[in-house]
Amino acid sequence: MTTEFTFTEQARHGSARICRGCWDQMHMPIPIGGPLALPFRALGITRSKMNPDICTICERSFQYVKKQRQITVDATILFADIRGFTDLSERIEAVRLSEIVSLFQDRCAQAIWAHDGIVNKQMGDGLMAIFNFPIIRKDHASAAIGAAREIQRNCAAALGGLTLDALPLGVGVGIHSGEVQIGEFSSFRSDFTAIGGVVNQAARLESQAAAGEILISAETAAKAPELAADAETRMLTLKGIEQPVQARVLVKR
Ligand SMILES: [Zn+2]
Repeated sequence: MTTEFTFTEQARHGSARICRGCWDQMHMPIPIGGPLALPFRALGITRSKMNPDICTICERSFQYVKKQRQITVDATILFADIRGFTDLSERIEAVRLSEIVSLFQDRCAQAIWAHDGIVNKQMGDGLMAIFNFPIIRKDHASAAIGAAREIQRNCAAALGGLTLDALPLGVGVGIHSGEVQIGEFSSFRSDFTAIGGVVNQAARLESQAAAGEILISAETAAKAPELAADAETRMLTLKGIEQPVQARVLVKR
């Protein structure tokens, strides 16, 4: 039993002794766990809130780490939000609402970290995650799909029982893969984000996902064919795009 417990603990995210982002990006061992991390902590270098296996150097010193204002990265972007949240927020009390939001953000983060993604932005009832930066995952499309499935499972368990117009409260997820620009794009904020058409497309897919659905683009599906094999094909008319766009809808498992 003891061995099993230790193994589980080590397999958990947040257990990395050195920052996996700094290692993957610079081959620099920055201690973030254990006694070696103490002097770094004194300098304000700690585990990042975007993912506990990376550090605040990754998060706030993009230019220093990459020696450039921005870089182009092949990545997978995931958006998730609570469907019907605006309606809900007008009908239930603020305390209950904030409980739902914390549950959602917490369950999503656990799922994203378990697949080496980072929670780059949190927007109340929604979030944006990046896979393949700064922790490198060649299989970033599969990692994002794995995270999305876990988000749906975790949130169904956490939000299950809550209803909106007699329908269970649920989460919609959109995923798209391709080249994104990553960098610091604001003069008053020093953390990095991703921008570009791929990011916009992921957000649009998410906006079309019904509660419980995961909509992935044809590009993401092509990078993870084994995971998209049982997916239904749906044609979507997306804002700002003339031609209908093909998306794949992942079924519950
Ligand atoms: Zn780091």
